Amino acid sequence: MPSQTNIPLIAYRCSQCHGKDVGYDASSAFNEASQTWELGTEYDSAWCNDCGDVPIEIYHPQGDELQALVVLRAEHIRKERLAENAQDLYDALTGMVEALTPHATEQNALILANAHAVLARINDDATLPAANPGA
Ligand SMILES: [Zn+2]
Repeated sequence: MPSQTNIPLIAYRCSQCHGKDVGYDASSAFNEASQTWELGTEYDSAWCNDCGDVPIEIYHPQGDELQALVVLRAEHIRKERLAENAQDLYDALTGMVEALTPHATEQNALILANAHAVLARINDDATLPAANPGA
């Protein structure tokens, strides 16, 4: 098992209705590079979307609920690691294509074509916004 499963997983629940649609008030700041709002300061004021301004509690999932959370957490960590290692994966795939291209055969043509397609998808400029869309 991956080591992250050794960390006790928690959740938060409403102290009144035990619902999971809860949170804390917070401030955010706009990051122009990522084009997203990012979490700033968290405040002590908690809320439940059903009950209003009420305290929330740490909740320790058990049984099937815990197993579902373990799966959810593992998938999240896998995606984070993939994002962190994307450049290494890109470089490895580029190196494989460069090494394999001079030795292309009928047998490995499909592998090479798929690798080219993946690299083309990554390099697709259409995913980047225009620098000056009004021009
Ligand atoms: Zn509630």
